[in-house]
Amino acid sequence: MSALSEFSLIKQYFEDITTERSDVILGIGDDCALLKCPEGQQLAVSIDTLVESIHFLPDVDPGSLGHKSLAVGLSDLAAMGATPAWFTLALTLPEVDQQWLAAFSKGLACLAKQHNIALVGGDTCRGPLSISIQVHGFVNAGDSLRRDGAKKGDLIYVTGSLGDAAGGLAMKQGKLTKGIGSEVEVNFLYQRLEQPTPRVGVGQMLVGLASAAIDISDGLVADLGHILHKSGVGAQLDIEDLPISTALSTLSTEAEHLALYAGDNYELCFTVPPKHNDQVQKKLKGQCTRIGTITGDDGIVFFKNKKLIKLSGLGYEHFSTGR
Ligand code: ADP
Ligand code: MG
Repeated sequence: MSALSEFSLIKQYFEDITTERSDVILGIGDDCALLKCPEGQQLAVSIDTLVESIHFLPDVDPGSLGHKSLAVGLSDLAAMGATPAWFTLALTLPEVDQQWLAAFSKGLACLAKQHNIALVGGDTCRGPLSISIQVHGFVNAGDSLRRDGAKKGDLIYVTGSLGDAAGGLAMKQGKLTKGIGSEVEVNFLYQRLEQPTPRVGVGQMLVGLASAAIDISDGLVADLGHILHKSGVGAQLDIEDLPISTALSTLSTEAEHLALYAGDNYELCFTVPPKHNDQVQKKLKGQCTRIGTITGDDGIVFFKNKKLIKLSGLGYEHFSTGR
């Protein structure tokens, strides 16, 4: 614990942690940042808050937390097909722990550099640990990937593998038996929980090809449900095609359930009109899996080995009173 002032804390840990951008006219240090949006582009904006014990465990590694706080926002930009540009950070800290701050800002800066996104301002105050990050990105006017464009006959895809973060969390909470999997598999699930990879490049590649997209933060069924609702369509999902990692299927007996319903995934779910399918397959080879088809009906029907099956459940919802 030290008597570091708010001013020097910001200076030491948050100024200049990212590469310079010519569109930042004035960054951290004044009442507002001054930013320049390129002509012909729209600004995509999104904010997310991570609260201790709700979104992350109290003993989480601060470097991973810095990474994840930004990754969830980058994942939203990815889902719109946007190119990251700037972010702001509202940080509420119970105390000034310099070691914690150094690790947190390092994790944050590392991912920010990878995506050339600049920290341009924020707010710092004392209270229970929570982190809010607002991200800003650019997308060519009218080109963004939205939730409302899916049409009957479109193919449904997801990136990466599903359910790993929930498997990692179950492992941390002692609900899975470590001994069953190798150390590599256990660490894979931990990494998927604590250091998710936002699919920014995939999102950008899908511009002009996908008819709708969303990032899977609340679970596949819940988030695909948003696409269906906004687009006025339904879906058929082929359960046996869900991409499930070897680590998850080795370590959890509920891999399929987690793949369908568990949140904290930060993969993309998107729909592709048949005429663009070949191009998507070619461009995203090995990065995505087809899991079903958009139908003209309401809601989702599940098929397993060509047979219709019944499933019930929802994705993660903060304010739901029961299932
Ligand atoms: P004000 O009181 O005018 O809102 P502050 O004293 O809170 O300004 O912040 C001073 C400057 O530091 C501002 O430019 C603000 O954007 C920036 N800032 C504050 N906290 C953070 C943070 N956690 N990360 C990045 N910039 C921050
Ligand atoms: Mg001010």
